[in-house]
Amino acid sequence: MAVQKTKRDFPLDKIRNIGIIAHIDAGKTTTTERILFYTGRTYKIGNIDEGTTVTDWMELEKEHGVTIMSAAITTFWKDVRINLIDTPGHVDFTAEVERSLRVLDGAVIVLDAASGVQSQTETVWRQANKYRVPLIAFANKMDVVGADFMGTIKSAREKLGANAVAYNIPIGRENEFKGVVDLLTQKAFIWESDSTGAEFSEVEIPSDMAREVKEAREKLVEEIAGCDDVLMEKYLAVQEIAVDELKRVLRKAVIESKIVPVLSGSSLRNKGVQKVLDAVVDFLPSPQDIAEVSGQNPQTQESEQRKADPQAPLSALVFKIQVDPHVGKLTYIRVYSGTLKSGSYVYNCSKQIKERVGRILLMYANDREEIDEAFSGEIVAAVGLKDTITGNTLCDESYPIILESILFPDPVISLAIEPKTKSDQERLGYALGRLAEEDPTFRVKSDPETGQTIIAGMGEFQLELLVERMKREFKVEANVGQPQVAYKETITVNAQGEGKYIRQTGGRGQYGHCLIKIESLPRGQGREFVSEVVGGAIPREYIPAIEKGVIEKEDTGILAGYPLTDIQVTVYDGSYHEVDSSEIAFKIAGSLGLSDAAKRAGLILLEPIMKVEVTTPDEFMGDIIGDLSKKRAQILGTEKRGNYTIINSLVPLAEMHGYATTLRSMSQGRASYYMEADHYEPVPQNITAKIVESSGFTGRVEH
Ligand code: GDP
Repeated sequence: MAVQKTKRDFPLDKIRNIGIIAHIDAGKTTTTERILFYTGRTYKIGNIDEGTTVTDWMELEKEHGVTIMSAAITTFWKDVRINLIDTPGHVDFTAEVERSLRVLDGAVIVLDAASGVQSQTETVWRQANKYRVPLIAFANKMDVVGADFMGTIKSAREKLGANAVAYNIPIGRENEFKGVVDLLTQKAFIWESDSTGAEFSEVEIPSDMAREVKEAREKLVEEIAGCDDVLMEKYLAVQEIAVDELKRVLRKAVIESKIVPVLSGSSLRNKGVQKVLDAVVDFLPSPQDIAEVSGQNPQTQESEQRKADPQAPLSALVFKIQVDPHVGKLTYIRVYSGTLKSGSYVYNCSKQIKERVGRILLMYANDREEIDEAFSGEIVAAVGLKDTITGNTLCDESYPIILESILFPDPVISLAIEPKTKSDQERLGYALGRLAEEDPTFRVKSDPETGQTIIAGMGEFQLELLVERMKREFKVEANVGQPQVAYKETITVNAQGEGKYIRQTGGRGQYGHCLIKIESLPRGQGREFVSEVVGGAIPREYIPAIEKGVIEKEDTGILAGYPLTDIQVTVYDGSYHEVDSSEIAFKIAGSLGLSDAAKRAGLILLEPIMKVEVTTPDEFMGDIIGDLSKKRAQILGTEKRGNYTIINSLVPLAEMHGYATTLRSMSQGRASYYMEADHYEPVPQNITAKIVESSGFTGRVEH
């Protein structure tokens, strides 16, 4: 694990920042591992079935109790540096998925040639499309019984509406699968055996494949020519087009997501993976091919752009924080413009603080290299950043820019965690702190009434995953409650109230007294506290204590135990006692005053409304819309895309529990959905009554 320090000058066009995406079981782990092997950075070929794969961090973690899979692994193929970025395997609409798709420039999608395109593949594919990630596809498992390369392409075209075209075709299939024919160069390659795989040789195209190769090549050339006017003319005039020219246009078409070239192979049998690496180099974009990055200038609120130029002002996005067993806390950064230098101070624009970058590392599969500087387009890990968290932008202080919004939406779902023992309790605090650092949409608080720890986030799946990691990585044993919708309380009319906390029996007494008014703020505005006390009715030093009491009560809730929102609370009068007044007395008075005012203010509950986008084959559309309508959904409209219909709707989160299962059974597993928090809306009265009743807060409101 030697750390060498090198000063480099790496041309941008020799970098590929890519992800490997796939639905579970298609062979993402095996393919990644083979890539690392062939690129020469792993020393021993592993096999996940025996639990030795380098990247299968879940497995390794069991053995070592640490996370080993890096958020980004650097490797080399030919003279190109490939940064493999780990993409989350799940499809929940979270900031993490968004961020990982954002920092990569292209991706290899692994398809299972034996089972074709399944609904899960569709979800992954569409997600990549949503972020306009250029793709090449790898039809894996050509050795498996039932493997069908052309069938896989056909189903990709039909089910995904993608312009998938064969780029190389398999020689043999199932047990007989031995190699591939590259259609553009018309060269055939076979791998001598299953085992080492690194050895392959060029051979004659098998004679019985001549016709198949000709047809497939024709199709590929036609698709490529269709993307370029000059080539189209040549094609129509039946002129020969040079391979280099075809490659150049194909590269452009892939980058513009007009064509998805499909390659064939079998990772497990070590066949075809090197060709995928060649295609990554040939067709996926380098940072140079990507349009400039956009962000917001926090001073002017205007949108600004930065070019991928090492001389430009620095802009960089922190996309992951990870703890490395050898180096400690690593901050993974994509540099978009300028140069990040080790030992320098950078400006964290999201937090408005300066931070020192200690060392900068390139993380290899089982080694690392220290570098002096990272240029625009590079992906590196930095050591030494203390307060920077995931999603933060680092930049030049004189050229402030924010690449990712720091306004994380309020969590819409929560669950309670109860550690089993005292030592679990201690580990829990540490674990949750670490996890929150990695994912800023995830919040932790403790429920003062039950003493339970409550975690909250943007989706059920996100919370499940966090709980899973808490158990696996941090060894916390805990009872975990059911996910709960994060309702909020607010008022419908402005009102006033009085808070009086006076105890004067023997010795020193207590005296706190305040008059409070509570007013509505526009939806989504949050909370404000104002003091209008004049003439010293309450000495100034007690105002913060009143505010504390008010906030405590706002957090606890009044109607059904949910936090109050969209209100302005003003303390405008009160009284005090020379001797008996204290901060604690005013804090209690503030809390009582708020309760008193809120109870007269027509409290209601607000619920999170989700933007739900269902994609379904046309035949299930009627049933799905019918079901959504039963869920109090507001259908916004439908859109056609290929053989699919996209249904856009707004649905209360409370109705979405278990929707993945419902949707699967309504559509034979072929429909999929995205869901994202949109806004809060009042809960209908009959439902409010039920929530209030089950909350144990009943009867505490006077309308
Ligand atoms: P992931 O869930 O996408 O990471 O998939 P894995 O790489 O873990 O592979 C899932 C299973 O498929 C494992 O049992 C692999 O050994 C197996 N597998 C992966 N690639 C191939 C292949 O090319 N051929 C065959 N026969 N099995 C494969």
